[in-house]
Amino acid sequence: MSHKIKVVCRVRPFLQKEKPDSSVTVEGKTVLRVTNPRDNTKDIRFNFDACYGARTSQETIYKNDVRPLVETIFTGLSATVFCYGVTGAGKTHTIQGSEQDPGIIPRALEHIFMHQRQDAADYDIRISYFEIYKEAVFDLLKPQDNVTLPIREDASHKIFIAGLTERKVTSFEHFDAIYQRALGNRHTASTKLNNHSSRSHAILTVRVEWADDLTKKTWCGRLHLIDLAGSEDNRRTENGRDRMAESSAINRSLFVLGQVVEALNTGSLRVPFRDSKMTRILQDSLGGESLGMMIVNVAPGTVFLQDTHNTLNFATKSR
Ligand code: ADP
Ligand code: MG
Repeated sequence: MSHKIKVVCRVRPFLQKEKPDSSVTVEGKTVLRVTNPRDNTKDIRFNFDACYGARTSQETIYKNDVRPLVETIFTGLSATVFCYGVTGAGKTHTIQGSEQDPGIIPRALEHIFMHQRQDAADYDIRISYFEIYKEAVFDLLKPQDNVTLPIREDASHKIFIAGLTERKVTSFEHFDAIYQRALGNRHTASTKLNNHSSRSHAILTVRVEWADDLTKKTWCGRLHLIDLAGSEDNRRTENGRDRMAESSAINRSLFVLGQVVEALNTGSLRVPFRDSKMTRILQDSLGGESLGMMIVNVAPGTVFLQDTHNTLNFATKSR
């Protein structure tokens, strides 16, 4: 069966400070074998559309899985990539990467600007970048203290975030300057909220619009690149009312996302888009013919085993 939203697993390498006691093994191209956290003499196997081990490069993931999605926006469709996993599993490395080892966001933008140079069409490229924290939307391109943005529906039933900043970007360097500044905003916004960035979802949207030369019809493609909040069950380690409210908002929105992906992949008639802010905002981009991918990031160590197990149960259910 082919899935609207592919689910791909990526296991990161051990870090220097970690004890290399792997409890996960990639088997072939699609299977991850994991030690059973309740009985370490037994293994459990999880199936994905693709499964990548520690040696898989950023370039391979981009070429194999992300590039084809980015191509679809030039046919007027929407595409979405989510990185899901516990804090420390490699979500930010995968979606954003570093200067030395760039991830999906810089590669996708390079690719989009390459299209702009090569195609005859006159593309208008705009970005927005926002954070969802405790079910409230914060603009990262123009952060304002304590200002959260409402979600609205226009006359044609399209969902939008009222007041969200969109910036036109004319080159990769132009994009990168704006994006780097916005990353700094993410940090300040979250410290003000007495929060760490791993507790919010960060959503970068690239909108490409152009007019068909012959028909003059306007086309629009959208790409959403999303660094999800850490999927760990914070209730185990944190207490205090604030953290509890935060954890239940995170757990709930990830749970709804899982249900939405599952409903889309099984062709269910009822897709619970309205049950969380993120899925509501993405509703128009996930429905219809559009495509998506969830990258499930996994840390290799035994200290992560229970979290890894929870992550994989979630991810294979939505597949
Ligand atoms: P998360 O965003 O899920 O909390 P990070 O992306 O910050 O996790 O990754 C945790 C650490 O592991 C970082 O130091 C990161 O550089 C490193 N890391 C993650 N994935 C890889 C990878 N595929 N190759 C090398 N280092 C990685
Ligand atoms: Mg991160």
